[in-house]
Amino acid sequence: MQDSIRSNNALEQSQSDWDAQQSSQLYGVRDWGADYFDVSDDGHVVATVQFGDKTVCVSLIDIVEGMKERGLEMPAVLRIDNLLDQRIKQLNEAFAKAIEQAEYQNHYRGVFPIKVNQQCHVIEEIADFGRQYHHGLEAGSKAELIIALSQLQDHDSLIICNGYKDAEFIDLGLYARQMGIPCFFVLETTTELAIIIERSKALGIEPLIGVRIRLSSMVEGHWNEDSGDRSIFGLSTNALLDVVEQLKQADMLHCLQLLHSHLGSQIPNIRNIRTGVLEVCRFYTGLIEEGAPMGYIDLGGGLAVDYEGTRSNSTHSMNYGLDEYCYNIIETLQECLDPLDIKHPVIVTESGRALVAYSSMLLFNILDVRDHKPSAVPAELAQDSHDQLLNLFEVLHNVELANLQECYNDALYYRDEIRELFHRGQASLRDRAMAENMSLAILEKITELLPQAKRVSTELESLPELLSDIYYGNFSLFQSLPDIWAIDQIFPIMPIHRLNEQPTRNAVLADMTCDCDGKIDSFAHIDGIRKTLPLHPLKQNEEYYLGVFLVGAYQETLGDLHNLFGDTNVVSVHINEDGSFDFIREFHGDSIADVLSYVEYDPKNMQEQFRRIAEQAVRDGKISVAMRQQVLQAFRESMQGYTFFER
Ligand SMILES: *Cc1c(COP(=O)(O)O)cnc(C)c1O
Repeated sequence: MQDSIRSNNALEQSQSDWDAQQSSQLYGVRDWGADYFDVSDDGHVVATVQFGDKTVCVSLIDIVEGMKERGLEMPAVLRIDNLLDQRIKQLNEAFAKAIEQAEYQNHYRGVFPIKVNQQCHVIEEIADFGRQYHHGLEAGSKAELIIALSQLQDHDSLIICNGYKDAEFIDLGLYARQMGIPCFFVLETTTELAIIIERSKALGIEPLIGVRIRLSSMVEGHWNEDSGDRSIFGLSTNALLDVVEQLKQADMLHCLQLLHSHLGSQIPNIRNIRTGVLEVCRFYTGLIEEGAPMGYIDLGGGLAVDYEGTRSNSTHSMNYGLDEYCYNIIETLQECLDPLDIKHPVIVTESGRALVAYSSMLLFNILDVRDHKPSAVPAELAQDSHDQLLNLFEVLHNVELANLQECYNDALYYRDEIRELFHRGQASLRDRAMAENMSLAILEKITELLPQAKRVSTELESLPELLSDIYYGNFSLFQSLPDIWAIDQIFPIMPIHRLNEQPTRNAVLADMTCDCDGKIDSFAHIDGIRKTLPLHPLKQNEEYYLGVFLVGAYQETLGDLHNLFGDTNVVSVHINEDGSFDFIREFHGDSIADVLSYVEYDPKNMQEQFRRIAEQAVRDGKISVAMRQQVLQAFRESMQGYTFFER
């Protein structure tokens, strides 16, 4: 008991020395936050927005309070549209600057691949804010083409159509062409070409054609299947020549103006990008030799996001910056094309992840904690206690830096002895509880001393993880963070307040689904991936909020209805120059009735069925008529409620 009091006091003491900047370092905010996030002196995560030279900071917890006042409960996706604007601006200006410095003789046109985040507000913001840069859209399906056609108001913005295209798709694109919209059909296979030629002749409209090639350059990282010989996308070199031949025969070779390639997403290593661009250039010059006019090089996506903040070539990071990315592309193009006197093409990229990741975050509260804190150990044990208990008691009081391993071995040995006696009916439930509690207290003491130990066995090394708490978060991993489950994606995760207190607990996170996969136990850290996240102990009657950052790309529509947790609430906020903010959009997440109807239940029917059950209970004398009313009311209200935990 005294010991546990002493160690708690020690923790509290160190808290007063702790400041928000230490939290900022601990969670690596400046590393992954890319100037968009920071920690304020009063211990809050803030979003930082530039207005000219002026930096405006808004605390996320203030936004959460505003959401609560508007009936938007946790969990919620928060979008800050200024951050999206800032990314669009930075990408376009980085290319513009590199183009000017290298005296490249053409311009840059970005297109946003709609599949990365199809949400209406995101696309509208890109079309709207991106207009000054003629930022266009990439469509991979008919539905996405319809989005692109309706959202882009500017005829200097490109629409790039990838994916399989049927006659209906092609007709739509051709009509757009006729109206002056630069809409490219990118051929993924040779079979598409026949339909394009046929529809083009039928409507009397000439298409803009691109070809997607399969590069042999391979790429590191998670999504490397888009490159290399076995890629399922793009034309082989032979098929490419076949396309040229067919276009010549149809007298349409002049329509072939764009070369497209996509090396893969989240390319962590700049060298791979350079190699890929060089190969694309060779194809480009080859097509010009074949007599195609060309004019556009589309390098696809791949520009990475540094989720870890380590600036390395590990899967969730990147070993280059935005400026370097642009310079590398432009330099490679010039090195390849200038000696051949080939006119510089328009540079197109389809950056998705890098454009939208920063602007969205998932916020949720912690509902409960299961800690492995031992409860108080009595100051003395009764003399007639089991020998093993007396032994454990002695070990507990003998833990020192010099004998950590020995104490560890003893703790487990005596604990297991008591378990054994319990199995044989020779130790009581209370004996067993005491043994487990004391061995836990020993392990905790060992863990506290570990950082000072010189040599630590692997057994001891995994103790902190073994003893870590489980924090239960009000969210569904499957709905809101599918990539963590599917591909072990790492996102920065941290508390958004109380950062001027030292986080004294080590935790893993569990979500609300009762699925053993619904947990997060890999966290980015400057020293590499860690299995636990430092967090604060919960306070009575006070919510504890965590944020998962950089989730704007790919997470929102890949999510599923595991355990029938539906869409979360979503809010879009715009930050103003005076530090105030406006809620420009609110979307209330799915109600229970909504998710039930997704899986083909009829909420009306269900109510009727339940009414009959209640009516029967009245007839059987189990409930009164008045209670029947209450029961039905509760049922109806649940139906209309949020699928997540409501306070
Ligand atoms: C997915 C995809 C992109 C987006 O890639 P990011 O790495 O997210 O920028 C771009 N182009 C094509 C063809 C894609 O399939």
